[in-house]
Amino acid sequence: MTRADILERLRASGYRLTRPRRALVEALLQAERPLTADELHRRVRRAGMNLSTVYRNLSAFVEMGWLTAMCGVNGKQHYCVQAGDGPSFSILCLDCGKINPVAAAPDPALSDTVRGLGFKAESLRVTLAAHCAHVCKGRSETR
Ligand SMILES: [Zn+2]
Repeated sequence: MTRADILERLRASGYRLTRPRRALVEALLQAERPLTADELHRRVRRAGMNLSTVYRNLSAFVEMGWLTAMCGVNGKQHYCVQAGDGPSFSILCLDCGKINPVAAAPDPALSDTVRGLGFKAESLRVTLAAHCAHVCKGRSETR
C-alpha cells in the first residue's frame, strides 16, 4: 500500500487531510515495525493530535482496510500498513514482543481451509507466535 493509495482511500472515504492526520499516516508509513497507539501518539503529538484522536483515526483506518491491527504479547494492539489487499502473515516473538511482518502469503492449504469455513480469503491475517532466535534487544521497548 503506497502513500498515494492511502491518501486516495482517505479522500474517497470523505476524510479531510488535516496536518495531524497526514502526520499520523506518515508515522505509519515510516514505522520500522508495527507500533502501538501510544508509540504513534509520541510521534504525532507535535503535529497536534491527542491520544483519543489517534485511537479514533486508527480504528477508522483499520475499517477502511489498509491498516492491520495485531495483538502483541502485552495484549496491546500494534498497527501496521498492509502490504497489499491479499492475506498477510506475521510472526510475533514471545521473547521480545516484536511483531515481524513476513513478505509471504500464508500457506495455500490454510487459505483453502479458512475459505471452507466460510471466510473470505482477503481477510485472512495470520500471526504465528514463536520464540525468536535472535538476541532480543527490543525487550524493554515493546513491553
Ligand atoms: Zn525476539
